Amino acid sequence: MAQVHLVSHPLVQHKLTLMRQKDRSTNSFRRLLHEISILMAYEVTREMPVQMIDIETPLAPMKSPVIDGKKTVFVVIMRAGDGFLDGMLEVVPGARVGHVGLYRDPKTLVAVEYYFKMPSDMHERDAIVLDPMLATGNSAVAAVERLKETKPRSIRFVSLLAAPEGLKTFHDAHPDVPVYTAAIDSHLNEHGYIVPGLGDAGDRLFGTK
Ligand code: URA
Repeated sequence: MAQVHLVSHPLVQHKLTLMRQKDRSTNSFRRLLHEISILMAYEVTREMPVQMIDIETPLAPMKSPVIDGKKTVFVVIMRAGDGFLDGMLEVVPGARVGHVGLYRDPKTLVAVEYYFKMPSDMHERDAIVLDPMLATGNSAVAAVERLKETKPRSIRFVSLLAAPEGLKTFHDAHPDVPVYTAAIDSHLNEHGYIVPGLGDAGDRLFGTK
């Protein structure tokens, strides 16, 4: 059952509007993505398993819930996914981090892998895949396919923006992986860019254009 969670919180929507503006500086773009990632971490961890532990407040002993951050692995799709990572780690500091390096062949738009590194014991971990742009969906499909070989306990996918075409491609391949996104835009252009979108997320994040 394919699930899409649209994160419609006004704070996220406001910050996304600012990020879309073409004259926004690299510094401000990066800052906003960082802030949005903290807010999206809140949504994507909503179902995280907790366990009850015994604690003492100044007044009384009680049982109270805690999460095991070490069971979470943030899987960064390089390089734009890096912009999502620090905010997520602020909220779940015990999490581990994996990286997937993929580039899009500019002619075929097919994803080609050049790097893959995950922590050990993935079968005990809940994976949260980070990529701000779910555009053609090809790199997302390839990254999750590779990730599934490591057999994590669960997988969620977080993007800032999605194209309808990318969502369909992703869910045709991975109907079991829920997607969290702040917006579903109109369409992809002939170069595989999301329209209206926000341009090249990696370039805007790192100031490489
Ligand atoms: N990657 C981006 O950075 N932007 C798009 O619009 C599509 C893919």
